[in-house]
Amino acid sequence: MADNFSIKGFYENVANGGLRVPHCRNCQNYVMPPTSICANCLSTDLEWAKISRKGRVVSFSEIHVSNKKFQRRTPYVVSIVETEEGVRLPGIIKDATARELRIGDTVSISVSSEDGSPGYFFNILKNS
Ligand SMILES: [Zn+2]
Repeated sequence: MADNFSIKGFYENVANGGLRVPHCRNCQNYVMPPTSICANCLSTDLEWAKISRKGRVVSFSEIHVSNKKFQRRTPYVVSIVETEEGVRLPGIIKDATARELRIGDTVSISVSSEDGSPGYFFNILKNS
């Protein structure tokens, strides 16, 4: 497992099917976006910890114009999802339009390698 606490390390874990973020052994804070120092207590005593694959929609927006890589997906919905641990992840909600979504909806988080690069997606489980 990657021990470089960075966004690169995060995606190395994703490429191996894992959803992990740096976790501070000193104060139990989850460090996201990943860095090698705890933003809460400044400790460097970190470990990669598995996080829940369930969360709630905190915010979302529908994208109609995108960069080349994602243009063929438009329109699509990007969201901030908060996991059960309180970790906030940005990402795409699959198979949903903004009209179908509400703040607080429950999503599952799936890891996949579509488009040839490792990533993760949110899937709606239940509307709030
Ligand atoms: Zn800490």
